[in-house]
Amino acid sequence: MESARVASFGTSVFSEFSRLAALHGAVNLGQGFPDFDGPKEIAQAAIDAINGGVNQYAVGQGAPVLRAAIAAHSQRFYGQVLDPASEIGVTSGATEAIFDAVQAFTNPGDEVVLFEPFYDSYLASVQLAQAVPRFVRLRAPDTAHAQWWLDDAELEAAFTPRTKLVIVNTPHNPTGKLFTRAELERIGELTRKAGAVLLSDEVYEHLVFDAGKHVRPATLPGFKDFTLTISSGGKSFSFTGWKIGWHLGRAELVTAVQKVHQWVTFCSGAPFQVAIAKALELPDSYFQGFVQSYTQKRDFLTAALNTAGFEVLPCEGTYFLMARTDRHRRAGEDDVAFCRRLLVDHGIATIPTSGFHSAEHAVHVHGMARFAFCKTEAVLQAAADRLSKL
Ligand code: PMP
Ligand code: GLN
Repeated sequence: MESARVASFGTSVFSEFSRLAALHGAVNLGQGFPDFDGPKEIAQAAIDAINGGVNQYAVGQGAPVLRAAIAAHSQRFYGQVLDPASEIGVTSGATEAIFDAVQAFTNPGDEVVLFEPFYDSYLASVQLAQAVPRFVRLRAPDTAHAQWWLDDAELEAAFTPRTKLVIVNTPHNPTGKLFTRAELERIGELTRKAGAVLLSDEVYEHLVFDAGKHVRPATLPGFKDFTLTISSGGKSFSFTGWKIGWHLGRAELVTAVQKVHQWVTFCSGAPFQVAIAKALELPDSYFQGFVQSYTQKRDFLTAALNTAGFEVLPCEGTYFLMARTDRHRRAGEDDVAFCRRLLVDHGIATIPTSGFHSAEHAVHVHGMARFAFCKTEAVLQAAADRLSKL
């Protein structure tokens, strides 16, 4: 009965490992969601909105108060000036914006450039649109590269006359990479030449560590014409279940996405839009404290993993660590088998990174696992205790 498009889908790797984690009582460093709530006053703002009668459909394009807050936030953090009336749209999470944008900018058979590892919904969205993915591998740090890197010839070869869309994600899930300005400029140059749209998924925009700087591609010279930025409130405010996402850019790009949005969900949760508007207006001290607290979590889990014999790769942003598992992996074990054994036998849930790859390239990451550190100190300590017994 299923269509051919849908028949190829299994259960998402996140759902599978979350289910297993609950079943086995594992410490859950798998699916990326905080095990703590965001700011109390923001939760209260949602409660107040519900009690105050904000309970019917929101304006399809997004509550005006939220679009105004997104515009102010973009100006505050990136100096980006946007017209809330025409250059901003709201969706049910970034996930819907990604789905809608792929529908909006591709015809069946058109090509979409994806960087591997990729957030898994990109490939599913491309397949649902009957477009064709073209993969460019991010290569793991090595003696010549301190961070994840791109091969320029491979990047260039991924662009063809059929390229209609390019999806970048910075800060990047699962590697923790921040795309550099030079990398983004090169990607932009190729996107412009192809006459394609650049979709920039920045849901981790406020999770940037050390001296790192998040570059918003849309603010680079010349990028405005072809770049659509996507973000959401889930990670930045620790309310992933609220699913308030947005997209911003040139009016023609936003309008195209909104045309799809009106037939997919029409609008997202009205009271949560009001609360996320308040969250975007939180003072700089909130965002600084947020990064500080996550820096401690990252450093704690890095130390625990390194002590336990994993090799943790550098993490410049997001709330994920990628680590090499070779010391603990048995001969012939791939990343899925290893992560399953780590969960079932040792009570630690992670995510096997082949879930972020095409079948043909999964082999490159069989020796890696992703560990989420968006967890309370107690849970990270419990993970460290279990890791120390490996
Ligand atoms: N993009 C990336 C890179 C993500 O990791 C996630 C994770 N949840 C999303 C998009 C989806 O965001 P949302 O929850 O707002 O739909
Ligand atoms: N973004 C989350 C992660 O990478 C998962 C979200 C989901 O399960 N859809 O872990």
